[in-house]
Amino acid sequence: MEIEKRFSKMSKRMKSSIIRELLRDATNTSIISFGGGAPDPETFDREALAKLSQGVLLDEYQISLQYGATEGDPLLKDELIKILEERHGIKGLKHGNLLITVGSQQALDLMGRVFLDEDSYVMVSHPIYLGAASAFRAYGPKFITIDLEDDGLNIDQVEKALKELDSKGEIQKLKFIYTVPNFHNPAGVTMSLEKRKALVELARKYDVLILEDDPYGELRYEGERLPDIYYLANGENVILLNTMSKVMSPGIRIGMIAGDEKIVAKAALAKQGADLCTPTFTQRLVARYLQEGTIFNRIKSAIEIYRKKKNIMLDALQKYVNVEGAKWTKPEGGLFIWVTLPEKYDTMELFEEAKKVGVAYIPGSAFYVDDRVSSSFRLSFCLPPEDQIEEGIKRIGKLL
Ligand code: PMP
Repeated sequence: MEIEKRFSKMSKRMKSSIIRELLRDATNTSIISFGGGAPDPETFDREALAKLSQGVLLDEYQISLQYGATEGDPLLKDELIKILEERHGIKGLKHGNLLITVGSQQALDLMGRVFLDEDSYVMVSHPIYLGAASAFRAYGPKFITIDLEDDGLNIDQVEKALKELDSKGEIQKLKFIYTVPNFHNPAGVTMSLEKRKALVELARKYDVLILEDDPYGELRYEGERLPDIYYLANGENVILLNTMSKVMSPGIRIGMIAGDEKIVAKAALAKQGADLCTPTFTQRLVARYLQEGTIFNRIKSAIEIYRKKKNIMLDALQKYVNVEGAKWTKPEGGLFIWVTLPEKYDTMELFEEAKKVGVAYIPGSAFYVDDRVSSSFRLSFCLPPEDQIEEGIKRIGKLL
């Protein structure tokens, strides 16, 4: 059978991800990998989780080993609502405003599923989180790309693009503006308060949705915490995605969508067809873990680990990358540093050479929805041990 001919239009839009390939390399121990954004396993609270698992399985087996509601475990929702209220100042959320998802990656896909058609537009930053680009691309929308600056999206470009769509009578085809306001993946930058407010104003003026994706907000190493866009907008026109992946464990695969009840209900309907429910065992485990109230202490120690690694990487870049015109972001949190070399460099080409000297990063072109050549690359400092961070950057410096 010529199987290629049987595949759907949607499946043909899916491309193999360079990150997946790199994750394969990351398991090759001879390579120092600054590739994937996998957390340091030392941050995983394995003893506490092992103890709680016992009770969740033995005492709560009727829930934790059974099918659950597509919308999510009510106990977990209670805990998440508490966190959103206490730490994010978001008040008044009900169970109907939350959907528990299999990581925020599923949330991104569900947003694509419920909003995007082939004649839709999505507004995204350039560079963009690769996983969001793949999730949206499958549904065939047109991307409107906005430059990312040191303090977040270029708001003038956002306004210009909105005005243009509006004057063409196409504003309703713009389904959402996707943004990662804190410690952007891959760029490491954080959206300023002014820009957050300006974005909320624009979304209100043109009546468009903002899709706020915030996996890294709790991982702040320096500076002051900034309010969520969702908070600033009073929840109006904003959908907030969050996840336990970077603050607890990515293998547990627990994420969430918070937003308008109608959007959440539609996403739940889409989720039903995808997987019936998020694993009930990990949902209940996370609920019990959050009830213990120790997660933020645990995050504090993760912050210590990551701040140190980030500083080691920044110092090493300063010491070993002596290329005129090279620059890099100095993130206040999150897991990534974005390095930009002079334009003559093609970091995809360089990637093969880097592998030969035993170091891996993600070439910048992976984070653009067009086929550009990029002189940037993403480094993540979370996984390699401290001594390897310095050694890896030294190798990159020498190669350059
Ligand atoms: N959004 C962003 C910006 C991310 O960086 C990631 C993980 N790399 C995700 C969503 C998905 O994370 P998860 O599915 O593990 O929650």
